[in-house]
Amino acid sequence: MSEVIEGRVALVTGASRGLGRAMALQLAAAGNAVAVNYASNEEAANSVVSDIESAGGRALAVKADVADESQVDDLFSVVTEKLGPVTVLVNNAGVTSDNLLLRMSPQEFDDVVATNLRSTYLCTRAALRPMLRERWGRVVSIASVAGITGNAGQANYAASKAGMIGFTKSIAKEVGSRGITANVVAPGFITTDMTDALGEDVKDAASDSITLGRFGTPDEVAALVAFLASEQASYITGQVIAVDGGIAL
Ligand code: NAP
Repeated sequence: MSEVIEGRVALVTGASRGLGRAMALQLAAAGNAVAVNYASNEEAANSVVSDIESAGGRALAVKADVADESQVDDLFSVVTEKLGPVTVLVNNAGVTSDNLLLRMSPQEFDDVVATNLRSTYLCTRAALRPMLRERWGRVVSIASVAGITGNAGQANYAASKAGMIGFTKSIAKEVGSRGITANVVAPGFITTDMTDALGEDVKDAASDSITLGRFGTPDEVAALVAFLASEQASYITGQVIAVDGGIAL
């Protein structure tokens, strides 16, 4: 039987790269043991764990497709056994599959909604039990400004992210009386593999529309996530906070 670690346990979905990686590192720096979930990139997930451990923290890489119910059940079993009950959940794993609506296949729609929104439902449902027992919990879900404003070519993605907002406000109301908060962080354009896939012309046009004139960094999003996951954010719930350099102004 593995040793159960004292203190809070944070699970970050899709933490092998990009925003999730930065969140895992900052949550660990704040004293949480961190479960680093990933879909396929084992080497990258292990390097996040090594970075946390070299800084004196505790972490565990766990492979699971968070859109799949039985894999989510297994993910929570492993994390609970090896690190302890999860009381900080960051629903970060996400994908895009862009297309204009007339060309968007049902598969492209379903896959994006499953990875981004179904996963949020499955993971939050699994995390609520330990949070209710502890009478303390933090759920932070990573949506997107696209879920607030919409975006041509991203009807599937924007729908999934808008769904995360309605989901979060509902569960914030369901469990608020038990010391559990649920909030949404809505990033704008942040430099990761996801935005590296955009063409240079799209990136230039995007930068022109950002008040601060540049893409954000993963650390600039992770700082807010670490704050919302902390004790200090105890009176903030059901909120949608954009980290977008003023793109929506
Ligand atoms: P990214 O660099 O493409 O990384 C995606 C992460 O999600 C990877 O760790 C990947 O794991 C994991 N993942 C993908 N499908 C998964 C699944 N089915 N189960 C478990 N993990 C899965 O993405 P990112 O830019 O950091 O984005 C992170 C989140 O922020 C997403 O929800 C995205 O929609 C949102 N967001 C990003 C931006 C931006 O500008 N970057 C803007 C707004 C919102 P593997 O490494 O194993 O593939």
